[in-house]
Amino acid sequence: MTSIYTEVKALPTQGKRALYIPELATVNPEKFGVFISSIDERSLGLGDYQEKFSIQSIAKVLSLCLAYSLVGEKIWDRVGVEPSGTAFNSLLQLEADNGIPRNPFINAGAMVVADVLVSELDRPKEEFLEMVRKISNNPTLNYSSTIAQSEKEVGYRNIALCHFLKSLNNIDNTPDEVLDFYFDLCSIEMTCEELTNLMLFLANNGKSVQNEHQVISVTQSKRINALMQTCGFYDESGEFAFRVGLPGKSGVGGGIIAIYPNKYAVSVWSPMLNEKGNSHKGMEFLERLTTQTQLSIF
Ligand code: GLN
Repeated sequence: MTSIYTEVKALPTQGKRALYIPELATVNPEKFGVFISSIDERSLGLGDYQEKFSIQSIAKVLSLCLAYSLVGEKIWDRVGVEPSGTAFNSLLQLEADNGIPRNPFINAGAMVVADVLVSELDRPKEEFLEMVRKISNNPTLNYSSTIAQSEKEVGYRNIALCHFLKSLNNIDNTPDEVLDFYFDLCSIEMTCEELTNLMLFLANNGKSVQNEHQVISVTQSKRINALMQTCGFYDESGEFAFRVGLPGKSGVGGGIIAIYPNKYAVSVWSPMLNEKGNSHKGMEFLERLTTQTQLSIF
């Protein structure tokens, strides 16, 4: 893994940061960290793996887990399980689909999931954070108010999406409440080490490896991994499956988490994104890792 890290680090820095979120546009483009851990907690970290970054859409996996554990299969009445083939922030399909987002990882789908949590929980922000902290025994995980605020101020597309969903009767609460929670979810910060440790439950049949807490059922874990495989990279999900061969989820902060069920979880952070909003070096690193070690699910 060290030689792959060194090779990918030396590649030219390509792509762009998430310029539409002012606070993310200032992150050092050369940052590059990776952290891998098996479910029996043998681990290795390289580069900037102990530096916090904004996990952005990776948090959508966690909010889905919480909503799914609370309401069960009913959730699929309001959000689909098909790849959208469109950008993460697209409004295109919603009208034709009568306000049912194609999957929970595009922004529209994640807003419906956020709406479920606002309805189900008394204190959604606090209780979501409690869940995330509990899974990984890590009380230091937190939102970044600076990043959330930075996105809120210019989040016109997300504001439009949420109001559009409301007009199509797929948001029960006020769009302001849902958006406020959604922007906070996306602002959670952690290091690659913390992210891998947190997400290891998805490699472990839904059970935390740190404290044996069953976060979601075995079947739910199978389904979340399947959704990450088919929808985790928006209109680049096929490309990620083709190149890397693992369920995964990206965020516009430049992070990616990938899961090998029953074996390991690995996270990568490199802020420069390709055209589809996925980390350029992150994908490159994971492709070389699974190809050279033959540790992909295919
Ligand atoms: N907060 C970002 C947004 O809503 C998340 C997108 C992403 O990480 N792909 O636009």
